[in-house]
Amino acid sequence: MKISLVLALSRSIFKRCPRCGKASIYKKYLKLKSNCNYCDEDLSIYRTDDFGPWLTIIIAGHIIVPLVLFIEQVYAPDLWLQAVAWIPLTIATVLFILPVSKSICLAILWNLNDK
Ligand SMILES: [Zn+2]
Repeated sequence: MKISLVLALSRSIFKRCPRCGKASIYKKYLKLKSNCNYCDEDLSIYRTDDFGPWLTIIIAGHIIVPLVLFIEQVYAPDLWLQAVAWIPLTIATVLFILPVSKSICLAILWNLNDK
């Protein structure tokens, strides 16, 4: 049964298997399971490579940079205060988005794979 890309992507946002949507695709933070625990879909054949980090940079950049520019224009806080605020916030944002980006990449590759 072929599942639409939209459904596979919606499952990937929650880091779930693109086929069944029941089980997590990760066994560690960024380490993919070789097979889905629920439907036994083979996930080891999909190599996400650098797409996840690339997508993370794009998304995080579009979140953080406008915030930095807005805060600078409106409040103009000291540079040390901006560094103390933005560096941890950027790291947290990237660490939150990275597994989701990798999951999205896996869902796209899974959907492109003809079965
Ligand atoms: Zn599954």
